[in-house]
Amino acid sequence: MAIAQTDFAAFYRRSIDERDAFWAEQARLIDWQTEPRQICDYSRPPFAQWYVGGMTNLCHNAVDRHVSERGGQPALIAISTETDSERVYSYAELHREVQRMAAVLQSLGVQQGDRVLIYMPMIAEAAFAMLACARIGAIHSVVFGGFASSSLASRIEDAAPKVIVSADAGSRSGKVVPYKPLLDEAIALSPHKPQAVLMVDRGLASAPMESGRDHDWAALREQHMDAQVPCVWVESTHPSYILYTSGTTGKPKGVQRDTGGYAVALAASMKHIFHAKAGDTYFSTSDIGWVVGHSYIVYGPLLAGMATVMYEGLPVRPDAGVWWSIVEKYKVTHMFSAPTAVRVLKKHDPEYLRKYDISSLQALWLAGEPLDEPTASWISGALDIPIIDNYWQTETGWPILTLCNGVEQQAPRFGSPGKAVYGYDIRLIDEVSGAELTEPNQKGVVAIEGPLPPGCLQTVWRDDERFVNTYWKSIPGRLIYSTFDWGIRDADGYYFILGRTDDVINVAGHRLGTREIEESISGHAGIAEVAVVGVADSLKGQVAIAFAVPRDAASVEGDAARLRLEGEVMKQVDAQLGAVARPARVLFVSALPKTRSGKVLRRALQAVAEGRDPGDLTTIEDPTALQQIKAQVG
Ligand code: AMP
Repeated sequence: MAIAQTDFAAFYRRSIDERDAFWAEQARLIDWQTEPRQICDYSRPPFAQWYVGGMTNLCHNAVDRHVSERGGQPALIAISTETDSERVYSYAELHREVQRMAAVLQSLGVQQGDRVLIYMPMIAEAAFAMLACARIGAIHSVVFGGFASSSLASRIEDAAPKVIVSADAGSRSGKVVPYKPLLDEAIALSPHKPQAVLMVDRGLASAPMESGRDHDWAALREQHMDAQVPCVWVESTHPSYILYTSGTTGKPKGVQRDTGGYAVALAASMKHIFHAKAGDTYFSTSDIGWVVGHSYIVYGPLLAGMATVMYEGLPVRPDAGVWWSIVEKYKVTHMFSAPTAVRVLKKHDPEYLRKYDISSLQALWLAGEPLDEPTASWISGALDIPIIDNYWQTETGWPILTLCNGVEQQAPRFGSPGKAVYGYDIRLIDEVSGAELTEPNQKGVVAIEGPLPPGCLQTVWRDDERFVNTYWKSIPGRLIYSTFDWGIRDADGYYFILGRTDDVINVAGHRLGTREIEESISGHAGIAEVAVVGVADSLKGQVAIAFAVPRDAASVEGDAARLRLEGEVMKQVDAQLGAVARPARVLFVSALPKTRSGKVLRRALQAVAEGRDPGDLTTIEDPTALQQIKAQVG
């Protein structure tokens, strides 16, 4: 990879010490209809407003501005190994499809500021819908297609969308997963009802339409084939989207992103982190339902004038060479995935990797969970290209820690996602005293001094108070953003992430709130009480294990009875939250270990489940509860 030899330390320092000048320069990477009059307004901490007075449009920057120069170049490469289909959309074609979708949304009443919820599998129409919303100033909220009705209902209720865009079904491992029944149930559960539902019919499952409310995409598209829908210029601070993420309470948080700051942050990341250029091809194996899908399937690559691959399917179907066949066929230059997916591939013959010509590939970025040594060295040996770890969160929208190889080649250090990325003023804080830890190798909470750089969350959707209280007030005595991750920094500025400080767990790179899973399980009539913890797993990083107290001890007497109740509980989680949240095991116990004040000792539970010493138990009410659990997990 050709490397611009800028001094990273100086580049980083400038981003912090001369913040406005630095970000004014980055702002030139995108088009503005009206230039901003102020780079950052931080007069009301912790609320940061980026590029105040600037007027821009995310869809213009991602699509329209490329049409004259590279209209014929591939923009979106939609591949499904589930339905055996492949379709390449050039920038000119994408431009047309997005306008058709925008016209259809407008015909259904969508205007600037309205929310549109997108509950879709990985098909091109999902990207059209996101870009169409951005085009007309509507705020999209994509909900991961693997979530089930009650997860979806709580998001419908909170985002209050005017329109929902969905499809008849997704497909996983050749099995059709109908979406419409889940969507109908979610709408029934939610007190807010959408005005209209736009259905993409893939011909996979029957989807009964509710007359007056449900509309067929193909039919409406026909009416708008020649639609010309101009981009609506919006304030830089206008919300572009809401993306829900799990927290410590059962209620998901709507991460709200702006427009101008996000566009600049992504365009800058394509240059300085990914070292990408127009005409390159980006393949991110994530899903549009997650933040990586927003930033690095849809917006980031398109902002940079690249082609982006949207892939529906597994990494091992039809065989474990499928990703590399895509790399060969489309000359993929940049790839983004998660350690879990690599661990899945690692179980297969490495010959699959060698079957294809992957010489176009410059590097593989991995994120979402800790990258362990065996995984990193296996994939780096197999691909013989740089493997670049990067650490970030739904909230930030782009990497907080990595090695900015677009700025300067820096040597990776095993177990570390890298150094602070430009724009992030990272501090390590003592959780109890709130004091800053400045010596090397001290363990503290990874925190970010405000203002957060462009592209990070503006607030929690319709809940400024929750934004301030959750993220900015967890450290005593100071207003500073907490990532809720433990970390250390070595003498050379490399960070190491040591796990979450809260009850959030990470299963196969997906962030799940244990409270949400607990709420679903305790809704089962046979369960009196439950605690869910994340337990180390060699494939998925962590899995959820539920410790449940049955209402009636007799209901779990004998293996058959126990398995029946375990199966029922899992089914309930599948139906309400989705299979992604299903615990790997439900273990039945007669009591949960608690403190004298009644708090469940989750960390002790987790330690015991992982076969570790539970640590200090001076506050435990009844030590026999933990002993019983120890016996259960063996
Ligand atoms: P999400 O918001 O779902 O992207 O999850 C963000 C969380 O995943 C972070 O707060 C970390 O706990 C974890 N995480 C993400 N990337 C990494 C990484 N490269 N190394 C270690 N943990 C990570």
